[in-house]
Amino acid sequence: MSISTSVLTALLQVLPHLRPQLYFKASLTALSHAMEDQVLAATLEKPLVIASFQRERFYRQEAHRYRRLAQRSNQVYVLSAPETDFSHSSEYYETIAFEPDDALAQEWHLVVIAQNYATCLVCRESLGSIAKNKQQTHITPSMDTDTARRFEGIWTAERGVSLKAADLLLERILWYRPELSAKIEEARQRFGIDRPRKDVEINHHSEFACNIDTDPFVQRLVTYLQASQYKLHKAYRSISAQARKERLVNSISSAIRRSLNPQEILQVAAQELGQNLEACRCLIYRTQATDTQAIIEQEFVIPGVLSLSGQAWQLANNPLFQDVVNTGEGVCISDTLNDSRISKSKTLWYPIEKFGIRSWLIEPVLCQGRLLGIIELHYCSDKPHEWQAGELDLVKAIATSIGAALIQAEAYANLEKLNQQLEALDQTRSNLIAITGHELRTPLSTIQVCLESLSTEPDMPPELKEIMLSTALTDSERMRKLIQDFLTLSNLESGRVEWHPESLHLQECIDLALSRVRARSGAEKLPNISAEISPHIPLIRADGDWLVEVLAKLVDNACKFTPSAGAITINADHNGKQMVEVSVVDTGRGIEPNRLEAVFDLFYQEEGALRRTTGGTGLGLAISRQIVNNWGGKIWAESAGKNQGSQFYFTIPMVVGEKEGKRE
Ligand code: ADP
Repeated sequence: MSISTSVLTALLQVLPHLRPQLYFKASLTALSHAMEDQVLAATLEKPLVIASFQRERFYRQEAHRYRRLAQRSNQVYVLSAPETDFSHSSEYYETIAFEPDDALAQEWHLVVIAQNYATCLVCRESLGSIAKNKQQTHITPSMDTDTARRFEGIWTAERGVSLKAADLLLERILWYRPELSAKIEEARQRFGIDRPRKDVEINHHSEFACNIDTDPFVQRLVTYLQASQYKLHKAYRSISAQARKERLVNSISSAIRRSLNPQEILQVAAQELGQNLEACRCLIYRTQATDTQAIIEQEFVIPGVLSLSGQAWQLANNPLFQDVVNTGEGVCISDTLNDSRISKSKTLWYPIEKFGIRSWLIEPVLCQGRLLGIIELHYCSDKPHEWQAGELDLVKAIATSIGAALIQAEAYANLEKLNQQLEALDQTRSNLIAITGHELRTPLSTIQVCLESLSTEPDMPPELKEIMLSTALTDSERMRKLIQDFLTLSNLESGRVEWHPESLHLQECIDLALSRVRARSGAEKLPNISAEISPHIPLIRADGDWLVEVLAKLVDNACKFTPSAGAITINADHNGKQMVEVSVVDTGRGIEPNRLEAVFDLFYQEEGALRRTTGGTGLGLAISRQIVNNWGGKIWAESAGKNQGSQFYFTIPMVVGEKEGKRE
């Protein structure tokens, strides 16, 4: 036998009936401690104890126990490969510093032998486990590789096996420390440990009956096993918390992938987060750093807890919200009854009491430092909620996902709006092409034909000459009007118009508009126009020129679409509102109900641009809407349908402080 012989191998050779088993390091530690405790429990009479540690550092952790063990027996032997100052010594008990290349360096042994009790643990570390550990350490350095170490060997209370194990170890001790031969011999004598004999055959059934109290052993063993079970349980808990977090983040991410609708995404997030963290309430709302209040858009709430959905949530004077805005970090309050920020702020008391918030988390939803919204979790029970790091991490992770989703949805909405604008522009462009084709090209060619005829046929009779000239003039006037309207509209739309609001009498503006319409119509017979504005209509505030423009356009249209036998009535009403409502009512051809909005579109003409009969441009109502919107008013049309007449209405603000009937 040499130092390269494994004790386990030697034991198995002599006792081939033994079946080695696999042990994790934690089990060996538990077993060894329990075996040592059995000695310390003083039920054994001066036992022989042999412990072999793989390395000095493992022995160091146990050194204090061995000093106590040595008080119970003078036959205590400790073997270990030295690392710093472990050496042969007989100070407290016998220590044997074996060579680092001794097979013992891979093994873990503990043998306890008394007159009426024997037990042994003979194990060898499985090399696969060492190699694997090294690999794992490389990949995940934080992992506790020690717990994954595995051993194979024998643990038994068979006396015969224990004696043989003691025999093999004593032999190894003697090899290193021959001076101990007398002491070792004494142990052999006392416990009946045979000298090594090749032919020895140990009957493993012939052990002594164990008649000592093994309770301390069992109790300690159970305690150690419980401890490792607890560790395992904790590990499982943290794994399942991690898995839960991943599931939650995944379900929210998939909601984000599925939908570009922020409401839907926020709804899923509020629901999942509230449910997973077992909160009483989870709120998610969009807000900006400067907002004074927010409307609660999405909420998860458990039954029996007051809902906040759709309510206005005060942010002004809320120090917690201000904290979140200033730091960009969440605020987490375990107990609202015990928080200095809350006890100092009166404004916070109202929501806390009304909505029973005992524990409160406010987490910002940020994107590139910009506040997009807030996630709030409320716990409303009697006991404050102790926030766990895992929960806070989870809320943060969700806030990040929501931030990304909101930005994505915002970008998409902008894109959609842009698309609509582009579509509208495209439509305008097509309309423009059609109208230019007709409105500009047709009069232009008429003008061209007239002028050509005039210049090439000098003998043309004077009456025909007159007709030619007047046709050319009428058509050039129509072109001028179209270009004029087009420029006006483009100026209004692009905001290049200067406004001069003033206090005005409505009647005066109507009179001006009517005289303009009459001047334009010339000899043409107009329907009967009446405009009797009550003297009680208050002063209005608007830009006079533009107001006259709107009135003239509406009256012009009414004249255009009403036969001369019909009637046009202009009226005004204010009904105690802040706006004066003006109506232009005709008895003409009317408007189909489904076209009442379309008439305000650019270039809208019922006949279509190419079948125009009344000489308009299709821009008049679009221009009027731009003007009215500018002073904060509204313009709309009503009609009972074809040939039922039309009513156009628009509103103008009253002069502030103006009382009914008061005149300047
Ligand atoms: P236009 O220069 O063609 O009159 P507007 O923008 O003023 O352009 O009007 C657009 C269209 O709305 C008209 O072509 C007509 O079809 C309809 N419309 C406007 N006013 C009336 C009205 N008083 N009665 C019937 N239809 C009207």
